[in-house]
Amino acid sequence: MLNRVEGIVLKTQDYGESNKIVTLYSREFGKITAMARGAKKPASRLAAITQPFTYGSFLIQQGRGMGTMQQGEQIESYRHIREDIEATAYASFVVELINRAVEDSTPQPAIFNLLQQALHAIADEYDPEAIALFVEWKMLPVTGIYPTLHQCANCGATDGEFSFSFQQIGFLCHRCFAVDPYIVRLTPAQVKLIRTFYTVAIDQVGKLTLKKETKKFIKKIVRTIYEEQTGIRLKSQSFLDQLDRLPQYFPKKENPSTSQEEGE
Ligand SMILES: [Zn+2]
Repeated sequence: MLNRVEGIVLKTQDYGESNKIVTLYSREFGKITAMARGAKKPASRLAAITQPFTYGSFLIQQGRGMGTMQQGEQIESYRHIREDIEATAYASFVVELINRAVEDSTPQPAIFNLLQQALHAIADEYDPEAIALFVEWKMLPVTGIYPTLHQCANCGATDGEFSFSFQQIGFLCHRCFAVDPYIVRLTPAQVKLIRTFYTVAIDQVGKLTLKKETKKFIKKIVRTIYEEQTGIRLKSQSFLDQLDRLPQYFPKKENPSTSQEEGE
């Protein structure tokens, strides 16, 4: 059976002298793998289309085992992602997270859209760190974690001061702080920002201009949830950590869109 799928390359693995095994996240079938014969050879017509982050339309011959990629056409090139080291690093993080978090090949259009919008936003030069952080919060339910962020995880109150509790995986109101001795205190702005990351659409998050420390703080919370609850630890993370430690080599461009700032 020959299937046409719209997909994004999450990962490739060399196979033999000249072939690649390509992992795609497709709109139609979710995560799938396909053999791309000859794709390692630069002259192959499959070489360009099987690069990481490629968003394309692929023709896949489905047999009993792994499918075979027959041809592909690029839909969007995401050029900026390939040209900018920081964009590459965060895009790598996004595709690796989605590859690790999704286990089976069930079609989940919401994940496809999230991936496509995230790469599009990074390619459009939105703050890649904020985009990656957004994807991290959004992917929690995919791994079976549903943090309680709309109310207190213990008493259900929606008013008051809130802290984050890893034990409850969610917010605790000031009346319930004693429930968990290891709560992380949050400012109202941080509470709002975490809710934003978890609930709103990506195009709105992309417009946020966030301070480096704010992103670091929110990132630490979500990453601790992943590490404690899922055991997911990403390879691309160590490269991002190195980038963070060497800011002088990678001067940051100022984000042109400054519609919102946290910390009211
Ligand atoms: Zn409470």
